[in-house]
Amino acid sequence: KKYGVNELRQMFLDFFESKGHLVMNSFSLVPQNDNSLLLINAGMAPLKPYFTGAEIPPRTRVATCQKCIRTGDIENVGKTARHGTFFEMLGNFSFGDYFKHEAIAWSWEFLTKVVGLDENRLYPSVYEEDDEAFDIWNKEIGVPADRIFRFGKEDNFWEHGAGPCGPCSEIYYDRGEKYGCGKPGCTVGCDCDRYMEVWNNVFTQFENDGEGHYETLKQKNIDTGMGLERLAVVVQDVDSIFDVDTLCALRNKVCEVAGKTYGVHHDDDVSIRLITDHMRSATFLISDGVMPTNEGRGYVLRRLIRRAARHGRLLGIEGPFLEKLSETVIEGSKDGYPELEEKKIFILNVLHNEESQFNKTIDQGLKILADLETEMKEAGKTVLSGSDAFRLYDTYGFPMDLTKEILEEKGYTIDEDGFKEEMEIQRKRARETRAVSNYMGADATVYDEIDRNITTEFTGYDKLEATSKV
Ligand code: ATP
Ligand code: MG
Ligand code: MG
Ligand code: MG
Repeated sequence: KKYGVNELRQMFLDFFESKGHLVMNSFSLVPQNDNSLLLINAGMAPLKPYFTGAEIPPRTRVATCQKCIRTGDIENVGKTARHGTFFEMLGNFSFGDYFKHEAIAWSWEFLTKVVGLDENRLYPSVYEEDDEAFDIWNKEIGVPADRIFRFGKEDNFWEHGAGPCGPCSEIYYDRGEKYGCGKPGCTVGCDCDRYMEVWNNVFTQFENDGEGHYETLKQKNIDTGMGLERLAVVVQDVDSIFDVDTLCALRNKVCEVAGKTYGVHHDDDVSIRLITDHMRSATFLISDGVMPTNEGRGYVLRRLIRRAARHGRLLGIEGPFLEKLSETVIEGSKDGYPELEEKKIFILNVLHNEESQFNKTIDQGLKILADLETEMKEAGKTVLSGSDAFRLYDTYGFPMDLTKEILEEKGYTIDEDGFKEEMEIQRKRARETRAVSNYMGADATVYDEIDRNITTEFTGYDKLEATSKV
């Protein structure tokens, strides 16, 4: 049966509730009390204190559907079938409670019995040294040995920065030959989109102190993560995460705004998928209080918004369009995430400001960049100078990564060190000016990178928060 995304989310949570788990709401995308992470990138990230034993969990078994952002996947977005910068991660967690046997058995039960996937298309992998997990798959679940793959640390040892980590067992789904890369040796673990990685079961038994020292945790834990959109891809038997029911609605809206038909031109499709994804990320980030700035989380947001705006230009969209799309994101996700509806006006305002600011200069910036490309070509150069990249950033609002990307599409690079030097000079200048005027009477560093126009907006957010509590 072709369950919808919202149905699948509920089925997962209900299933683990029936196995004694406490279902908790998604946490914010902004990590709390955790400097090791810019944004929440997995279901386990906000639960770290329960894994390490620093805090007592409300129950030793928990299940969540966590909103996640992975900026590391930004280059994949629109190009692979399975990566978004934003996605929802389903997860079941054990804090010193059950371990490998139950975790493996339940993941299999959920996929084959509850959702009804064909077990002949499912392939588990284990960490090469983890004979225990191998035997559970083979002897207890009954998966033939030749269908279980053993992989090294790179693939089957899970860790993200400091904190709990351990060997893992992943479950892949064979979507069939038509999705394969066709290269010899294409099988489970190949980076193409045929064998889609659906679920990762991590057996958390170590603690990484952030410098590569591992200590065995007192309690053994289970941390699992399954991309909701990917689960929907295999259940609904569609091409990519952009074809599952919920994302498809947004993707169609992008097409409508751009006056394009999906599936006609490859480059257009990449832009359509990219905008679809980035608008989800941007909408959720703003709803969690992130503002577009030039540093940290704010830079991630600014880059996503401006990247989407530029791809809008590539599609031939003129004038502002991001607000309309964000409205569709909110409409499609507000049932699961009521904060989107509560902060709707605020979200749309932030997008409006950021987009109109960029729109003022984007065409000029793109033209200057094209001229610079011509100059480089004529001079036989392949590297854009730091000062030119900085001018695009400072005057035309092009985040360095955006300039870099546009150039890379044509085989050029940027002198990044040169760019950073220019940036440092400007920072110093700004700091000096501020020291004199004692900007806002507050610790200047806090405001260092915040755009002045946006700070006024930020007050609006506080107000919005205040009223929504009344
Ligand atoms: P991949 O190898 O496909 O990039 P991963 O190994 O990086 O995935 P994990 O870190 O194991 O992913 O995360 C757990 C699960 O979260 C994955 O099995 C997948 O279902 C989902 N997931 C990971 N990254 C993304 C993404 N960028 N977009 C959508 N879902 C994702
Ligand atoms: Mg990945
Ligand atoms: Mg992987
Ligand atoms: Mg994985």
